[in-house]
Amino acid sequence: MKRALFIALAAAACLWAVPASAAGKKIPVMILTGEQGGPYHAWEETTPYLKRMLEETGLFDVTVVVAPPRGGDFSTFRPEWSKYKAVVGNYDAPDERWPDELKASFEAYVRNGGGFVSVHAADNAFPNWREYNLMIGIGGWRGRTEKHGPYWYVKDGKVVSDTTPGPAGSHGARLPFKIRNFVRHHPVTEGLPEEWMHAADELYAKMRGPGENMTMLSIAWSDPANRGTDREEPILMALQYGKGRVFHTVLGHDIAAMNCVGFIATFQRGAEWAATGKVTQKVPPDFPTATEVRTRPEYNPPPGWTSPGGRPPAKKQ
Ligand code: ZN
Repeated sequence: MKRALFIALAAAACLWAVPASAAGKKIPVMILTGEQGGPYHAWEETTPYLKRMLEETGLFDVTVVVAPPRGGDFSTFRPEWSKYKAVVGNYDAPDERWPDELKASFEAYVRNGGGFVSVHAADNAFPNWREYNLMIGIGGWRGRTEKHGPYWYVKDGKVVSDTTPGPAGSHGARLPFKIRNFVRHHPVTEGLPEEWMHAADELYAKMRGPGENMTMLSIAWSDPANRGTDREEPILMALQYGKGRVFHTVLGHDIAAMNCVGFIATFQRGAEWAATGKVTQKVPPDFPTATEVRTRPEYNPPPGWTSPGGRPPAKKQ
């Protein structure tokens, strides 16, 4: 009986292995997850969404790597970074979580040409890990201040780095907001509408960091009526770290925010760019417009879902 079961499993494994080997031509991408700053960033819930978004393009072969939790054993956690063309960070942990060797291995990976995609609160992680902050350009929370770099934003059409002292990271209530392409001729933003409405999400503001080799691709006005800054804040960024490309999206607080076609398409395009330097994907016909939020039914949160650790998202407009 055991033998029959083994043969059945082996046969199933072989069948499964056929598409896996055919997928060898696909771009190998890792989603790194396993910790966030709180239950409001539900990585167990958002990670399958991100995985599905990458896989549905037909371009990527996606592996999810779950880091040990707080208090877990990191001595044997050695992700094989170099097996992947890009790593997607759906991960936020404090500086002390990673041993120095693990940090060094990740730095070497990106410096030597590996791609990195920082999603939402991945830019909260590791405030005092200098090289990580050079990769993401700007970050927020976890005690960041003027010591971690200036505030970066756009005012009167110009990129500003502002050394005013103060804490980093703020956002208002989760409401829909308008995103504007600041750099239109970049592989990630090429062909996108000049302005588009994003579904209810946190509009990150007061982000600070080294901001080196950073291009703000898309920005959004942070409305003082929603505890905002009256500045245009960076939303999508492209960075260079050594030979590695980094795509940084501050969007994607929860699966309701990730349901936005604008999030989905820019994440898919940003991941391809970080991995290969090119974007072969067409802008989808259901991309949001300057006046209309667009979501995908297949990414609708399940019935009765509410945003973890907080209130349900504001009604979509
Ligand atoms: Zn959030």
